[in-house]
Amino acid sequence: MPLRFYNTLTQQLEEFQPQDGKTVRMYTCGPTVYHYVHIGNFRTFSFQDILRRTLRARGYALDHVMNVTDVEDKIIRASMAAGQTIQEYTAQYTRAFLDDAALLRLERPERIAFATEHINDMVVAIEGLAARKHTYVSDGSVYFRIASFPQYGRLSHTNFSGNIAGARVEVDEYEKDDARDFVLWKARKPGEPAWDTPLGDGRPGWHIECSVMAQKYLGQTIDIHTGGVDLIFPHHENEIAQAEALTGKPFVKYWLHAEHLMVEGQKMSKSLGNFFTLRDILEKGYSPEAIRYLLVSAPYRKQLNFTFDGLKAATTSIDRLRNFDLRLRNERFPEGLNPQMQERAAAALTAFHAGLDEDLNTADALAAIFEFIRDANTAMDSGEFKSGDTPAARDLLTAFDSIFDVLKPTVQEGALSDAEIEELIKERTQAKKSKNFSRADAIRSELLEKGIILEDTKDGVRWKRKS
Ligand code: AMP
Ligand code: ZN
Repeated sequence: MPLRFYNTLTQQLEEFQPQDGKTVRMYTCGPTVYHYVHIGNFRTFSFQDILRRTLRARGYALDHVMNVTDVEDKIIRASMAAGQTIQEYTAQYTRAFLDDAALLRLERPERIAFATEHINDMVVAIEGLAARKHTYVSDGSVYFRIASFPQYGRLSHTNFSGNIAGARVEVDEYEKDDARDFVLWKARKPGEPAWDTPLGDGRPGWHIECSVMAQKYLGQTIDIHTGGVDLIFPHHENEIAQAEALTGKPFVKYWLHAEHLMVEGQKMSKSLGNFFTLRDILEKGYSPEAIRYLLVSAPYRKQLNFTFDGLKAATTSIDRLRNFDLRLRNERFPEGLNPQMQERAAAALTAFHAGLDEDLNTADALAAIFEFIRDANTAMDSGEFKSGDTPAARDLLTAFDSIFDVLKPTVQEGALSDAEIEELIKERTQAKKSKNFSRADAIRSELLEKGIILEDTKDGVRWKRKS
């Protein structure tokens, strides 16, 4: 089956092919590091992780760049209020972002690029745009003249022809119907950080960093560009204008946008104050895997409502998966092979990949796994699941976990490792055999205290971590 993605540019599901057939060149708008990133932001970053892993499962290599916006209006305001330089101020939140992303098991892009390390590249690009007559200067700031780029509006499917009269906007973020000339280079204001460049003393606007860094590392035409839907306009529209006005070539083949994480009908956002950071949620006792699972379980083009019930349901789903994994590892099944079970496993694997191939439909992919687990559990209970069926079931779980990555529990500091737990269980079994029941009980209590639950079955001891 072909891999298909919904392309915001064409508003269609399109078969995906990287330009060179092997390596996917992909750019992601990363965080603006003026605060802790919230789990709404992480919904978009988690979608990108599923995208990366799906592309690799299809045999593609990845060259993925993500920027970190470390100079912009909000950062400057916040760092001034904190009495810090923007470098000092942003470093703590960049670190926190990378730590949180690692806890959520988001693969690190091949390159993380910081805006402040690319000022010169941006200046050169703005000079190129000036030479091609796409810019003008006003009060020392440089603006992109959108009337000079007739395709403006193609990504957001907006016809701006009526209102591109040459008014301009100086701020980095603005409303949907504001098709105004946007700022590329901002003249220095008192107290603000600035760079002394041929464009004058100042700093870049927000939009120029992404098109410049994408083209610098990935070439004039890249395969995939991702972000949340709120970036379609103006940010990505402006990126296209900057890039294509410079090269005359298409900037991006496939534009993929993730829908928002919502809270009671509204977008989770810092400005509305209805947000949770990863830290907030971990403090309430949920695991990083539960948050990851929740964020990726709904297809990325559907809005997802955040609730704590949803997090609990995610925890339960992970428990089901892990319990099945434990059964496969620990139980002894009758000898032989059940052809029906073999067929079920093969069909589930096909359905799992087919779900992901169809614009990353994670809900369909998960349904395939859970239907299999239900059938296999029933077959195990009735003795119809045979020892020879284990490898196919294992392969299915492995394929699942290479994308969803939730089976292995995050080991908290001070927690027992799997090996330590199994060692203690062995000791307990020994103690029981030699009728040392007080030692056996003590081990059970010790494990329980550390969140490990034991279950004695006819096939031996099974254990799991309390979620
Ligand atoms: P920012 O740091 O604001 O530039 O946002 C980083 C990424 O998170 C961007 O791709 C945004 O589109 C995305 N984003 C912001 N809010 C949400 C939300 N509530 N749900 C999903 N993605 C979001
Ligand atoms: Zn961007």
